[in-house]
Amino acid sequence: MTTPAPNHPSAVILTIGDELLLGDRTDTNAAWLAAFLTNHGFVVERILSVGDAPTGIREGLRSALRWSGRAGVVVATGGLGPTEDDRTREVVAELFGTPLATDSDVLDELHRRFRSRGMDRLPATNHRIALVPEGAEVLWNDVGSAPGLALEGAEGRLVLLPGVPSEMKHLASERLGPVFDRWFGPRPSRSARRIVQTTGIPESALAEHLESRMPSGSGVNLAYHPSVRGVKLVFSSTGPGAEDRLTDVLRKVDSVLEAWRYESPSGDLAESVLEALRARGWRIALAESCTGGMLAARLTDIPGSSDVVLGGVVAYSDRAKVTLLDVDAEAVERGGAVSAAVAGAMAAGVARRFEAEVGVGITGIAGPGGGSPDKPVGTVWFGFRTPEREWTEPVRLPGGRSEVKVRAVQHALHRLLTDANSIHGRG
Ligand code: ATP
Ligand code: MG
Repeated sequence: MTTPAPNHPSAVILTIGDELLLGDRTDTNAAWLAAFLTNHGFVVERILSVGDAPTGIREGLRSALRWSGRAGVVVATGGLGPTEDDRTREVVAELFGTPLATDSDVLDELHRRFRSRGMDRLPATNHRIALVPEGAEVLWNDVGSAPGLALEGAEGRLVLLPGVPSEMKHLASERLGPVFDRWFGPRPSRSARRIVQTTGIPESALAEHLESRMPSGSGVNLAYHPSVRGVKLVFSSTGPGAEDRLTDVLRKVDSVLEAWRYESPSGDLAESVLEALRARGWRIALAESCTGGMLAARLTDIPGSSDVVLGGVVAYSDRAKVTLLDVDAEAVERGGAVSAAVAGAMAAGVARRFEAEVGVGITGIAGPGGGSPDKPVGTVWFGFRTPEREWTEPVRLPGGRSEVKVRAVQHALHRLLTDANSIHGRG
């Protein structure tokens, strides 16, 4: 092509497969390719999906090529396999007006691979995999059968990749660099991103805090990824100066996020908590009722937790709270098992029994039954005891039974982190 290559050529992603339209399969190829192409200096203009029918593929390719323009590229995935419903290469050959011919190198390689797997004959259907539109470049597939294809014509530039995500990623990462360099020349990377993990604050409240401090036109995009464990914030920016813009915006919002942000290599709050306790020289013991040991499980899921976690008791019944954690039977009688007195006594009892610096007590109503007007489902009392202070607090958590449990554990972890990191009695 004679068009001068722009700095950031356009790219359009076309994913092919009935399963995508039926909702049987999440289109992870599109998301992965969007990040991949952005990182490789393209502006992704559109993501399209079509089914396996040739008419759909034809229309999809036509639109994609129109969107990408003559100076851009279309990257398509799916429908390159050996079966009848894999029709992509036929449609492409027809659209580009080039005949399909068996590529003898590809065919030889397929024969060789089948023989090396102890099969004496390549199934006839697999011969289709070796069909290559004339003039197309073969992108060798080391992790699967169907190679990728790259072709250029009056219609534009097109890359075809298999639908299997591992094969698609392999071909994109290992084979596309040289093709893109030849077609487009050097392209500066366009994107930078930073991830901030938060917990203990809903998405909407975060948005309120953040949006006033993120001037429009800052050139930084912010995406919220909420889950029961918290909200992951993804700050991203594209184009020259992306890194500087991110640094600038993050400096502006840092103080706002202070109370809720945490950092850990795995993205797990439990890891940060262990780190913070370790830094204080504190070891922890857990007394869990409604969370059924989930807090202990979260902490012990982290490798190396044994120097901080001494143990725990799942004290589900009133009697277990009294006999195993020395909770005063009268306190249970008076205020009920879900109360400040019991949560505090559980924390103190478990710390004493395990000779731990830190004790946590969790007692609540996970639902769906067991709620009452003054203690509705989702009511959870926490007791905390550290060498520096001792406190109890209630929360009212939304969601069904499993959500309440996860949120309760997350709340306990968040409090532990904040307390261990706070300056109480330090230095
Ligand atoms: P093969 O060469 O292995 O036959 P193919 O190119 O024919 O691959 P498909 O048959 O369309 O690809 O898909 C193979 C597998 O990859 C299926 O399990 C399919 O669900 C999955 N897959 C296809 N497209 C996507 C996509 N866009 N995102 C995630 N998974 C996908
Ligand atoms: Mg398919």
